[in-house]
Amino acid sequence: MKKREIIELTIEKMLFPNMGIAIYEDTEVRVKHALPGQKVIVKVGKIKETYAEARLLEVVEPRKDETPADCIHNDFCGGCSRQNLSYEQQLIEKEKSVMNLFVEQGIMDAPYRGITASPKIYRYRNKMEYTFGDMEKGGETTLGMHRKGRYMDVLTISDCLLTHTDFNRIMNETLAFCKEHGLPHYNNKTHMGLLRNLIVRKAEKTGEIMVNIVTSDQIAFPEKEYKEAMEVLELEGGIVGILRTINDDLGNAVRCDELRVISGRDWILEEVGGLKFKISPFSFFQTNTSGAELLYEKGFSMLGDLSDKVLYDLYSGTGTIGQLLAKRAKAVYGVELIGEAVQKANENAELNNLSNCNFYAGDVRDGLMLIPEKPDVIVLDPPREGIMEKALMDIIAYDVKEILYISCNPKTLARDLLILKENKYDMTEMALVDMFPHTPHVETVCKLVKKS
Ligand code: SAH
Repeated sequence: MKKREIIELTIEKMLFPNMGIAIYEDTEVRVKHALPGQKVIVKVGKIKETYAEARLLEVVEPRKDETPADCIHNDFCGGCSRQNLSYEQQLIEKEKSVMNLFVEQGIMDAPYRGITASPKIYRYRNKMEYTFGDMEKGGETTLGMHRKGRYMDVLTISDCLLTHTDFNRIMNETLAFCKEHGLPHYNNKTHMGLLRNLIVRKAEKTGEIMVNIVTSDQIAFPEKEYKEAMEVLELEGGIVGILRTINDDLGNAVRCDELRVISGRDWILEEVGGLKFKISPFSFFQTNTSGAELLYEKGFSMLGDLSDKVLYDLYSGTGTIGQLLAKRAKAVYGVELIGEAVQKANENAELNNLSNCNFYAGDVRDGLMLIPEKPDVIVLDPPREGIMEKALMDIIAYDVKEILYISCNPKTLARDLLILKENKYDMTEMALVDMFPHTPHVETVCKLVKKS
């Protein structure tokens, strides 16, 4: 096998999240986005010591159980990558890819409690961040998702199946409005232009919708006319707030230099597990509400008796985990980096009549120092990057008997579990919960117990 050589392979297994693995001339070849069972043509890229990388050129033979995708955008949209598998097969592949990773890392020594399916297979997302762009240089403005394999291009997604039809109506109307008013999209290379993103959030349980248009500050945006265009839309839910975020940052991520409330309020109300949560524009909230209820239930079922116990909810977002457990515990303390999420978490605790919860703002390491009581049990729910080693060592130093680790990234989870294992924490149970149908992502829940 030589670099740039074009070869045919049969994919044998998958490594999380989306790496197809084949063997060619006794060497492991890794092909992104290729599924086990597919016969593919690839171009060999980097050849490393233990494996080679290759780029997928063509699927010459699909796997036997592949079915046509339901979505009209599937061939080009970079959003979904598993629509051509039945949902049952998607779950099996997710399960296998996480198991392969855990076995490879030598950490799969606990009973596995299975994978829980998402309650909704389509239209499950309560948040969508669309991008403004184009399909070719100087082409007409598009609004939607990045194109599969060509991430500089943005494809208009008029009917995304992952969101409620209200999202699609808002998205299509926003694009039509911007075109009508001749508003230019922002160019990520020249940093010129106005329109950057559209973020829509809709609470699954209350139907409340927040529309947040993200622009630069280079050209005037007709806020009043936009509000009028949104207000006449026929939707099943109701728009409770129209916002404009000014972002003049040079990077692609949404940053907020200024938040303007064009109309209504800057939060929506969602319900999870019978409690109420106000969600502000930049607070994290699980994107699949009814899936999150199952995730939390699964995790909480692994915890023992919490009465007279002090519980830490680290990486607490809007405070869902801590508040859902508050009735079972003596006291709950949360730590979260994003200040506005912490503010909402404390407001939410009051709204839910919970007097034994307190949430602190800051990086986990700094936040821990603010908490007045030592923990008995710790729940961890970090972002994709997992837990920084220093923070993990601080957490380990509390010497608690039980840790519940909820993770949206099995790769960083595996890394952190190895450190926990070296520090006498054994994984005693592990389960998967699917919150992201048609994508490779999955949530993992693990219980860890300190060896006596
Ligand atoms: N437990 C919450 C949120 C989990 S997402 C829920 O179930 O909804 C992870 C959260 O970690 C995000 O809210 C993110 O803002 C926060 N976060 C990221 N890095 C952090 C850090 N270094 N310290 C504290 N919080 C952090």
